[in-house]
Amino acid sequence: MTVYEAIKQQSGCIVVLTGSRMRGTHRPDSDHDYLCIFDDDKFPHRTRISFGSNNYSITAASKFQSRLNQNDLHAIEIYLSRPELRERFRCEISPTKIEQKRKSINAFTNSKANAIDRIGKDSQKTRSYIEQTNQLCERILKLVQCGELPMQQDDDGNDDEPHHKPLPPIHVRAANYTTAQDRHTAAGRPLASQATIDERLSICVTCPEYNVEKSACSKCGCNINASRNAWKNKLAMANERCPMNPPKWEAEVSSENSV
Ligand code: SF4
Repeated sequence: MTVYEAIKQQSGCIVVLTGSRMRGTHRPDSDHDYLCIFDDDKFPHRTRISFGSNNYSITAASKFQSRLNQNDLHAIEIYLSRPELRERFRCEISPTKIEQKRKSINAFTNSKANAIDRIGKDSQKTRSYIEQTNQLCERILKLVQCGELPMQQDDDGNDDEPHHKPLPPIHVRAANYTTAQDRHTAAGRPLASQATIDERLSICVTCPEYNVEKSACSKCGCNINASRNAWKNKLAMANERCPMNPPKWEAEVSSENSV
Protein backbone atom coordinates (compact mmCIF):
# COMPACT_ATOMS: atom_id res chain seq x y z
CA MET A 1 0.00 0.00 0.00
CA THR A 2 1.38 3.46 -0.87
CA VAL A 3 1.55 6.34 1.64
CA TYR A 4 -1.10 8.14 -0.42
CA GLU A 5 -3.49 5.16 -0.12
CA ALA A 6 -2.74 4.77 3.60
CA ILE A 7 -3.54 8.45 4.33
CA LYS A 8 -6.69 8.36 2.17
CA GLN A 9 -8.01 5.42 4.19
CA GLN A 10 -8.10 7.51 7.38
CA SER A 11 -11.74 8.32 7.99
CA GLY A 12 -12.68 11.98 7.56
CA CYS A 13 -9.39 12.80 5.82
CA ILE A 14 -9.42 14.63 2.48
CA VAL A 15 -6.27 14.33 0.34
CA VAL A 16 -5.89 16.97 -2.36
CA LEU A 17 -3.25 17.28 -5.07
CA THR A 18 -1.79 20.81 -4.93
CA GLY A 19 1.03 22.87 -6.46
CA SER A 20 2.04 22.72 -10.11
CA ARG A 21 0.35 19.35 -10.70
CA MET A 22 -2.99 20.73 -9.52
CA ARG A 23 -2.54 23.70 -11.90
CA GLY A 24 -1.34 21.53 -14.80
CA THR A 25 1.90 23.56 -15.02
CA HIS A 26 4.21 20.74 -13.86
CA ARG A 27 7.21 19.26 -15.62
CA PRO A 28 7.71 15.47 -15.86
CA ASP A 29 10.15 15.61 -12.92
CA SER A 30 8.02 17.90 -10.70
CA ASP A 31 7.23 16.77 -7.16
CA HIS A 32 3.74 15.59 -6.21
CA ASP A 33 2.45 17.90 -3.47
CA TYR A 34 -0.59 16.82 -1.45
CA LEU A 35 -2.60 18.58 1.23
CA CYS A 36 -4.13 16.14 3.75
CA ILE A 37 -6.92 17.72 5.81
CA PHE A 38 -7.80 15.85 9.00
CA ASP A 39 -10.56 16.39 11.56
CA ASP A 40 -9.20 18.59 14.39
CA ASP A 41 -9.38 15.87 17.03
CA LYS A 42 -7.34 13.51 14.83
CA PHE A 43 -4.57 15.88 13.86
CA PRO A 44 -4.52 19.30 15.54
CA HIS A 45 -1.00 20.32 14.36
CA ARG A 46 0.36 21.22 10.98
CA THR A 47 3.28 19.20 9.64
CA ARG A 48 4.82 17.89 6.47
CA ILE A 49 6.30 14.56 5.45
CA SER A 50 8.13 13.62 2.27
CA PHE A 51 8.68 10.25 0.62
CA GLY A 52 10.85 10.61 -2.47
CA SER A 53 9.16 13.14 -4.73
CA ASN A 54 5.84 12.94 -2.83
CA ASN A 55 5.29 15.71 -0.25
CA TYR A 56 2.37 15.53 2.18
CA SER A 57 1.34 18.69 4.07
CA ILE A 58 -0.91 17.63 6.91
CA THR A 59 -3.28 20.13 8.47
CA ALA A 60 -6.35 20.31 10.70
CA ALA A 61 -9.74 21.26 9.21
CA SER A 62 -10.02 24.35 11.45
CA LYS A 63 -6.62 25.63 10.25
CA PHE A 64 -7.69 25.24 6.62
CA GLN A 65 -10.98 27.05 7.39
CA SER A 66 -9.06 29.85 9.08
CA ARG A 67 -6.87 30.28 5.97
CA LEU A 68 -10.04 30.54 3.88
CA ASN A 69 -11.43 33.14 6.30
CA GLN A 70 -8.28 35.22 5.76
CA ASN A 71 -8.74 34.88 1.98
CA ASP A 72 -5.39 33.08 1.68
CA LEU A 73 -4.97 32.68 -2.10
CA HIS A 74 -3.51 29.18 -2.02
CA ALA A 75 -6.24 27.93 0.29
CA ILE A 76 -8.91 29.38 -2.06
CA GLU A 77 -7.20 27.80 -5.07
CA ILE A 78 -7.20 24.39 -3.35
CA TYR A 79 -10.81 24.91 -2.20
CA LEU A 80 -11.89 25.56 -5.79
CA SER A 81 -10.12 22.44 -7.07
CA ARG A 82 -12.28 19.85 -5.31
CA PRO A 83 -16.10 19.63 -4.91
CA GLU A 84 -15.88 17.90 -1.52
CA LEU A 85 -13.97 20.89 -0.11
CA ARG A 86 -16.73 23.19 -1.30
CA GLU A 87 -19.25 21.03 0.54
CA ARG A 88 -17.27 20.91 3.78
CA PHE A 89 -15.79 24.44 4.12
CA ARG A 90 -17.06 28.02 3.83
CA CYS A 91 -15.30 30.48 1.59
CA GLU A 92 -16.52 34.09 1.55
CA ILE A 93 -14.50 36.52 -0.50
CA SER A 94 -13.56 40.11 0.20
CA PRO A 95 -12.93 41.58 -3.29
CA THR A 96 -11.01 44.40 -1.56
CA LYS A 97 -8.63 41.91 0.08
CA ILE A 98 -8.11 40.03 -3.20
CA GLU A 99 -7.35 43.31 -5.03
CA GLN A 100 -4.94 44.29 -2.24
CA LYS A 101 -3.18 40.93 -2.49
CA ARG A 102 -2.84 41.35 -6.25
CA LYS A 103 -1.43 44.85 -5.76
CA SER A 104 1.07 43.65 -3.14
CA ILE A 105 2.22 40.77 -5.33
CA ASN A 106 2.75 43.10 -8.29
CA ALA A 107 4.62 45.54 -6.03
CA PHE A 108 6.77 42.58 -4.94
CA THR A 109 7.74 41.69 -8.49
CA ASN A 110 8.45 45.33 -9.39
CA SER A 111 10.59 45.98 -6.31
CA LYS A 112 14.29 46.84 -6.56
CA ALA A 113 15.44 43.76 -4.68
CA ASN A 114 13.63 41.47 -7.08
CA ALA A 115 15.02 43.29 -10.11
CA ILE A 116 18.35 41.73 -9.03
CA ASP A 117 16.69 38.32 -8.72
CA ARG A 118 15.22 38.61 -12.19
CA ILE A 119 18.73 38.40 -13.68
CA GLY A 120 19.30 35.06 -11.96
CA LYS A 121 17.94 31.63 -12.76
CA ASP A 122 14.99 32.01 -10.41
CA SER A 123 13.56 34.81 -12.51
CA GLN A 124 11.37 32.54 -14.62
CA LYS A 125 9.84 30.95 -11.53
CA THR A 126 9.17 34.35 -9.98
CA ARG A 127 7.56 35.63 -13.17
CA SER A 128 5.35 32.58 -13.60
CA TYR A 129 4.38 32.76 -9.91
CA ILE A 130 3.23 36.38 -10.39
CA GLU A 131 1.36 35.49 -13.59
CA GLN A 132 -0.40 32.54 -11.96
CA THR A 133 -1.31 34.59 -8.91
CA ASN A 134 -2.74 37.40 -11.03
CA GLN A 135 -4.80 34.89 -13.01
CA LEU A 136 -6.01 33.30 -9.78
CA CYS A 137 -7.10 36.70 -8.39
CA GLU A 138 -9.00 37.42 -11.61
CA ARG A 139 -10.68 34.03 -11.50
CA ILE A 140 -11.75 34.52 -7.86
CA LEU A 141 -13.15 38.00 -8.59
CA LYS A 142 -15.10 36.64 -11.59
CA LEU A 143 -16.57 33.85 -9.45
CA VAL A 144 -17.74 36.48 -6.94
CA GLN A 145 -19.22 38.60 -9.73
CA CYS A 146 -21.26 35.72 -11.12
CA GLY A 147 -22.37 34.61 -7.63
CA GLU A 148 -20.39 31.34 -7.58
CA LEU A 149 -18.50 32.51 -4.49
CA PRO A 150 -20.22 34.58 -1.78
CA MET A 151 -18.89 38.00 -0.83
CA GLN A 152 -17.85 38.80 2.76
CA GLN A 153 -20.54 40.92 4.42
CA ASP A 154 -18.06 43.27 6.09
CA ASP A 155 -16.02 44.11 2.98
CA ASP A 156 -15.49 47.84 3.57
CA GLY A 157 -13.74 48.70 0.30
CA ASN A 158 -10.73 50.11 2.16
CA ASP A 159 -8.01 49.44 -0.40
CA ASP A 160 -4.70 50.25 1.36
CA GLU A 161 -1.36 50.60 -0.42
CA PRO A 162 1.31 47.91 0.17
CA HIS A 163 3.39 48.42 3.33
CA HIS A 164 6.91 49.76 3.69
CA LYS A 165 7.71 49.06 7.34
CA PRO A 166 11.40 49.71 8.16
CA LEU A 167 13.66 46.70 8.69
CA PRO A 168 15.59 46.11 11.93
CA PRO A 169 19.10 47.70 12.14
CA ILE A 170 21.79 45.94 10.09
CA HIS A 171 23.50 44.33 13.12
CA VAL A 172 20.17 42.81 14.23
CA ARG A 173 19.50 41.56 10.71
CA ALA A 174 22.99 40.05 10.51
CA ALA A 175 22.57 38.33 13.89
CA ASN A 176 19.11 36.97 12.91
CA TYR A 177 20.45 35.77 9.56
CA THR A 178 23.39 33.95 11.18
CA THR A 179 21.14 32.35 13.78
CA ALA A 180 18.66 31.20 11.11
CA GLN A 181 21.50 29.73 9.01
CA ASP A 182 22.93 27.94 12.07
CA ARG A 183 19.51 26.47 12.87
CA HIS A 184 19.11 25.39 9.25
CA THR A 185 22.51 23.69 9.26
CA ALA A 186 21.75 21.98 12.59
CA ALA A 187 18.47 20.68 11.10
CA GLY A 188 20.35 19.17 8.10
CA ARG A 189 19.56 22.07 5.70
CA PRO A 190 16.07 20.82 4.71
CA LEU A 191 14.60 22.69 1.74
CA ALA A 192 10.93 23.59 1.35
CA SER A 193 9.23 22.51 -1.88
CA GLN A 194 8.45 25.19 -4.48
CA ALA A 195 4.73 24.77 -3.65
CA THR A 196 5.44 25.57 0.01
CA ILE A 197 7.64 28.55 -0.89
CA ASP A 198 4.87 29.92 -3.14
CA GLU A 199 2.30 29.39 -0.42
CA ARG A 200 4.46 31.15 2.22
CA LEU A 201 5.24 33.94 -0.22
CA SER A 202 1.57 34.60 -0.93
CA ILE A 203 1.06 35.04 2.84
CA CYS A 204 4.15 37.26 3.32
CA VAL A 205 3.57 39.66 0.44
CA THR A 206 0.13 40.48 1.81
CA CYS A 207 1.35 40.83 5.43
CA PRO A 208 1.70 44.34 7.00
CA GLU A 209 5.20 43.33 8.20
CA TYR A 210 6.41 42.74 4.65
CA ASN A 211 8.70 45.46 3.25
CA VAL A 212 8.04 45.67 -0.50
CA GLU A 213 11.16 47.73 -1.38
CA LYS A 214 13.59 45.37 0.34
CA SER A 215 11.64 42.12 -0.21
CA ALA A 216 12.17 41.32 3.45
CA CYS A 217 10.27 40.73 6.66
CA SER A 218 10.36 43.75 8.98
CA LYS A 219 9.98 41.49 12.02
CA CYS A 220 13.20 39.51 11.57
CA GLY A 221 14.79 41.34 8.62
CA CYS A 222 15.17 38.11 6.60
CA ASN A 223 14.87 38.06 2.81
CA ILE A 224 11.57 36.89 1.37
CA ASN A 225 11.34 35.79 -2.28
CA ALA A 226 10.46 32.87 -4.57
CA SER A 227 13.95 31.35 -4.77
CA ARG A 228 14.74 27.82 -3.56
CA ASN A 229 18.16 29.02 -2.41
CA ALA A 230 18.06 28.94 1.38
CA TRP A 231 21.13 31.23 1.64
CA LYS A 232 19.05 34.11 0.27
CA ASN A 233 15.49 33.20 1.13
CA LYS A 234 14.03 32.40 4.56
CA LEU A 235 10.99 30.82 2.92
CA ALA A 236 13.19 28.11 1.37
CA MET A 237 14.18 26.76 4.79
CA ALA A 238 11.75 23.97 5.64
CA ASN A 239 12.59 24.24 9.37
CA GLU A 240 11.80 27.99 9.70
CA ARG A 241 8.47 29.53 10.64
CA CYS A 242 7.02 33.04 10.55
CA PRO A 243 8.25 35.10 13.57
CA MET A 244 4.75 36.37 14.47
CA ASN A 245 2.94 34.98 17.48
CA PRO A 246 0.98 32.98 16.42
CA PRO A 247 3.00 32.33 13.23
CA LYS A 248 1.27 33.08 9.93
CA TRP A 249 3.01 30.05 8.44
CA GLU A 250 4.57 27.08 10.17
CA ALA A 251 7.80 25.08 9.92
CA GLU A 252 7.50 21.94 7.83
CA VAL A 253 10.15 20.09 9.79
CA SER A 254 11.03 20.80 13.38
CA SER A 255 14.23 22.41 14.65
CA GLU A 256 15.09 24.06 17.97
CA ASN A 257 13.46 27.51 18.40
CA SER A 258 12.64 28.14 14.73
CA VAL A 259 11.86 31.82 14.05
S1 SF4 B 1 7.55 36.05 7.83
FE1 SF4 B 1 5.57 36.38 8.91
S2 SF4 B 1 5.74 38.44 9.79
FE2 SF4 B 1 7.31 38.26 8.22
S3 SF4 B 1 6.37 39.07 6.33
FE3 SF4 B 1 6.07 36.85 6.33
S4 SF4 B 1 4.04 36.54 7.25
FE4 SF4 B 1 4.69 38.64 7.78
